Amino acid sequence: MQTTKDTITMALAGNPNAGKTTLFNKLTGARQHVGNYPGITVDYKEGHFIHADSEIVLTDLPGTYSLTAYSVEELVARDYLVNEKPQVVINIIDASNLERNLYLTCQFLELGVPMIIALNMIDVAKDRGIEVMADRLATLLGIPVVPIIARTGQGRDQLIDQAVAVARGVKDWQPLDISYGDDLDETIMNLMGIIEENGFLQNTYPSRFTAIKYLENDDQIMNRGKKTNQSIAATLESLVSQVSDHLVKTMDVFPEAIIADHRYGYIKSIIRQGVLTHKFDTDRLYASDKIDKIVTNRLLGPIIMLAVLFGLYQVTFSWSELPVSWLAALFDWFSGFIAGLLPDGLLKSMIISGVVHGVGGVLGFVPLIMFMFFGIALLEDSGYLARVAFMMDRIFRIFGLHGSSVMPFILSGGIAGGCAVPGVLATRTLRSPKERLATLLTVPFMNCGAKLPVLALLIGAFFSENKARYMFLFTLLSWAVALLSAKLFRSTVLKGAPTPFVMELPPYRFPTLRGLIIHTWERTWQYIQKAGTVILGISILIWAMMTFPGLSPEKIAAFDQQRAAVMNGPSAHNTTTNEKNAAATGQSGKQELAIIDGNQAEEALKDSAAGRLGIALESISRYAGFDWRTNIALIGGFAAKEVIVSTLGTAYSMGKVDTKESSSLGKRLQKDPHWNKGVAVAALLFIMFYSPCFITIVCIAREASWKWAVFSMTFNTVFAFIVAVLFYQATRLCG
Ligand code: GDP
Ligand code: MG
Repeated sequence: MQTTKDTITMALAGNPNAGKTTLFNKLTGARQHVGNYPGITVDYKEGHFIHADSEIVLTDLPGTYSLTAYSVEELVARDYLVNEKPQVVINIIDASNLERNLYLTCQFLELGVPMIIALNMIDVAKDRGIEVMADRLATLLGIPVVPIIARTGQGRDQLIDQAVAVARGVKDWQPLDISYGDDLDETIMNLMGIIEENGFLQNTYPSRFTAIKYLENDDQIMNRGKKTNQSIAATLESLVSQVSDHLVKTMDVFPEAIIADHRYGYIKSIIRQGVLTHKFDTDRLYASDKIDKIVTNRLLGPIIMLAVLFGLYQVTFSWSELPVSWLAALFDWFSGFIAGLLPDGLLKSMIISGVVHGVGGVLGFVPLIMFMFFGIALLEDSGYLARVAFMMDRIFRIFGLHGSSVMPFILSGGIAGGCAVPGVLATRTLRSPKERLATLLTVPFMNCGAKLPVLALLIGAFFSENKARYMFLFTLLSWAVALLSAKLFRSTVLKGAPTPFVMELPPYRFPTLRGLIIHTWERTWQYIQKAGTVILGISILIWAMMTFPGLSPEKIAAFDQQRAAVMNGPSAHNTTTNEKNAAATGQSGKQELAIIDGNQAEEALKDSAAGRLGIALESISRYAGFDWRTNIALIGGFAAKEVIVSTLGTAYSMGKVDTKESSSLGKRLQKDPHWNKGVAVAALLFIMFYSPCFITIVCIAREASWKWAVFSMTFNTVFAFIVAVLFYQATRLCG
């Protein structure tokens, strides 16, 4: 009885999402184990199964689009092939995306590995009206092609039959020769001559493959070459740099680009020879493509996109209004409740202004963030977000950003009135770390809703004739500054190549409500957990800065005395009027009391840590035209930009000024000798661009790191100050 079975090693390779894992599981069932390739985080999966008389050992290689040295996955895949030399490679390709998938196939062929193609997803292709002629493809490529549906297991047995046959029949690796055009073909021949003469790296790679990798400037192979034989490596490199220089001079391209072009040319030529039949007619045009005809249309596309982005903005800021107002009412009630419970004094002030406002500050954003993430999940899950990125990429790429950056910008105030907190969180849709950071760091330059009352106050006071025009101008300016600073970051601290935009537009899907809710809730909860405690802590700190050390008992006593004087009776000069009209005096008494209260609040603010800092900073800030009162307001603005208006009110001893009723404060500023149009614009510029409020800072820290959060505070403040000083000094020079 024959019991010995032969063992055949197979490797499963293909693009991400081609169906590798599905096929792997179908073939091996539970007989698999997952590990890591030594030292890196790429999954290594191996399984085995019996087929006919053979024991098959199957390795699942990481999914890749290419075999360059650009990513760990690609290195792992090709190292595995050349070092382990599996007896056959099953190259799984997505039939509905033939052209892109064949790029990797093409490189396997060039490497010469014994190979068979599993033509997967023929059901999907069929739905899209595409049919791939497997036999024709097999003839043209010179390797077996077996149509399968990995999901159902259809074609699995034929596939393995053929794979076993290939493994048994193979003798040597047979690299495919693709022509790369006159210039390169000649160089490749020369390189191959040197390589073969010296047996250079030949135990690992075919000579032609090494030659091409040298032309492609492949770090890994060039390093390996240097270690093997320094002088030959140097000869090859100098040959390559000659031809490379020549190509750059004559055609302004690098060899890599020419190589890629020819590979695509080779693939196209194969596909054109009757491999693909599109059975498109209007009825069967794949639904997604049909939608895309309209949605990414040159004219309609941008209009629809603007409408969708505006819709997202509406969802985030309008739909959340009601829950936000409920929360606000709840916290008002709660402050009132606490106020009634506690005696006047520091504790009460801390609990109300520090703790309750702090918690309110954290939770107040929750509805906003929830609605925003819901909107984004909807766009993401339906597949539309990829289209937005696709359409915006050309514009944003100029500034070193990604098409997806548009959303954070819009949310942060690209349409005036947004908020940088959801904006910062929305950068999660960006994959490349550098593009994400550049977006994260520049969205706070937009005109968020909290800056608007300040802008309205100053524009209303000094430029009341052209309000709308100035508002528009400042919105444009915020865009310009944000995009240009992104460009600056991307060419300095965040330097790096842009991520190639893979034009992978997933088909449209109907998102499930369950999926949307899970996405939304997970992300919102993360915000509460990660940012909540820090925000609460800082909010107490800011309260302390605006409160301590506070007025000395003597000063308080002096104010109390003034009040007592008013309360105890009319002063000498208006005795007679008082007798005539008690009501009127009561009125003026109230006013006097209010003035005393205002003066006391001003004095207290001036005596606080923030006040002292504001006064100390006057020596620098006067270059931008800011006096100490403005400074204090700006320091308060770090808590939240809308605080600037109310703090200015206190600093000008007007008591608490409501942001909606700021016209009297505007008049006050108009008359104040410290203020004029120049100062107003300098202040506007500073407020638009200086440090983000601390809640945004905490979010930046959580999304990136504290290092970047500190960078953002410093960079923005210094930048804003320089702009303000330049502007103020210029207006002074021009009078
Ligand atoms: P991998 O990235 O190559 O491992 O791809 P997966 O095995 O994870 O497959 C990607 C997606 O395609 C999954 O949702 C699979 O269920 C689906 N899929 C795989 N093969 C087929 C197929 O033949 N037909 C269809 N309709 N879907 C498939
Ligand atoms: Mg997989």
